[in-house]
Amino acid sequence: MRRKENSLKANKDSTTSKKTKYVVVVGSVISGVGKGTFTASLANLLKLAHGLKVAPLKFDGYLNYDAGTLNPYRHGEVFVLDDGTECDLDLGSYERMINQNLTHHNYLTAGKLFKTIIDKERRGEYLGRDVQFIPHVTNEIKSYVKKLGEISDADVVLVEVGGTIGDLENSYFIEAMRELAYEEGKENICFINVVYILEPKSLGEQKTKAAQLGTRRLMGLGIQPDMIVCRSEHPISKKIKEKVSVYSNVPVDRIISLPDHDVIYEIPLILAEKKVDEKVCDILGLKFKEKPSNDFKRWEELARKMRGVRKEVNIAITGKYTDVHDAYISILSTLEHTAPYLNAKVSIKWIETSKIEKYTDVEEMLKDVNGVIVPGGFGSRGAEGKIMCIRYARENNIPFLGLCFGFQLACIEYARNVCGLKNANSTEIDPNTKTPIVIILPEKRNLKEMGGTLRLGGQDVEIKPGTKAHKIYGKTLIRERFRHRYELNPEYIEVLEKHGLVFSGKAPKREIMQILELPNHPFFMATQFHPEFTSKPLNPSPIFKAFLEAALKV
Ligand code: GLN
Repeated sequence: MRRKENSLKANKDSTTSKKTKYVVVVGSVISGVGKGTFTASLANLLKLAHGLKVAPLKFDGYLNYDAGTLNPYRHGEVFVLDDGTECDLDLGSYERMINQNLTHHNYLTAGKLFKTIIDKERRGEYLGRDVQFIPHVTNEIKSYVKKLGEISDADVVLVEVGGTIGDLENSYFIEAMRELAYEEGKENICFINVVYILEPKSLGEQKTKAAQLGTRRLMGLGIQPDMIVCRSEHPISKKIKEKVSVYSNVPVDRIISLPDHDVIYEIPLILAEKKVDEKVCDILGLKFKEKPSNDFKRWEELARKMRGVRKEVNIAITGKYTDVHDAYISILSTLEHTAPYLNAKVSIKWIETSKIEKYTDVEEMLKDVNGVIVPGGFGSRGAEGKIMCIRYARENNIPFLGLCFGFQLACIEYARNVCGLKNANSTEIDPNTKTPIVIILPEKRNLKEMGGTLRLGGQDVEIKPGTKAHKIYGKTLIRERFRHRYELNPEYIEVLEKHGLVFSGKAPKREIMQILELPNHPFFMATQFHPEFTSKPLNPSPIFKAFLEAALKV
């Protein structure tokens, strides 16, 4: 063991600058079968179990500059990084899996790529040449990938190419990866193709043809995979592995069976069992520590707890995207990875608030829940129903956690039903309201563009000593992530406070209220920020944990 660790050091010391290695993960047959989960789990394993420095990079082929203007109902949640990047939910899954914050360097869309190129062209940087896919677009991609390696000082950059082989959208990206291997040397890149093994019900057996053709297509683009990960409903047999191997020139021991699995936190452990980490390091000539770090042991412990018997806690989530659970993936993940710390397990009750018309409807929906979350949201649909849910939670001592829009609606509810400001509203919901409790942030008033114009990313939150928030976070300054355009109207802070609402967190230099709480309630708290974006399995969000603790007592 010691010998291995020393050799890693010697290896690093002997070269003036460390050679970054690359793992490129592509997919064949169909998308959406867990390429992202596989890549994040491999990164988890390389980092937590073997102490390697990792940097993931997600490439998305769409022409949007970022995910900011995407509809969560169609594409799933818009995740926000500390630097304010609005990105694909996969980045959230990476952050949680590798217990590390990422930046805009870890995310590239076709839109961002082409904008960089066109901006360069406008500045005359191509010196009169016609700008072409090869070499200009592929060069831009390679420099993006290499730059990530440099700035993160990573041992391994893991590139996940969105979509599947054969898509027009990622074809030039695949070509760039082929060129990268040519330039960096094949020994420095490991290509992994994630395929799907079909098992038609009518045949009752597994078929490899689609996987073979998909892999052939990749080989036709000049890329020889080093490993093939076979996703499937059931484990694949030796015969199937041999078949995939023969058609792809990939040795049988590098054909990995990865059947459907219900607990994603166990995937790194499954990959370790199958020695995927060792095989990848072997391909790349990477030495690694064999003794797992404490973090990996904690990860194993968490995964083990998820399998154990746990007390069930029933949490209602209100929202308009309740049919598409991916729209709330960070909230769901935070509940899922926080509950085991309390030996609990969360079951979710989805509340479609646009269907709530009167207060009695709410009673019917919330009578059997242990806690209510009103998550982020935009626009007026369903807002009145959410306000009724908040009122019900407040009046019936049910733990309540409001997130972003949920914070703003909690202010409105309190103004209406406690302070007697009957017409209280947000100008986002009713632009002509006479009692504008929630208004647009001053600096956002005259903006015309939609993309990237919200108050975004990590900001400091000053916490008032002696409050519940102070007790929960244990400090007076925290950093959390934001994504909003509206805020509590500072003119109404006084009246709300006079009636008992406590603003226990605010922006350090401005009157932006960021946490609210009610002292005489088992748990009534809301945040203008999104604690679900910073919560990680190894470092769960303190406020979610406190909320669940309170819910467990109901
Ligand atoms: N729509 C609200 C705003 O823009 C809340 C946003 C959110 O919940 N992310 O401020």
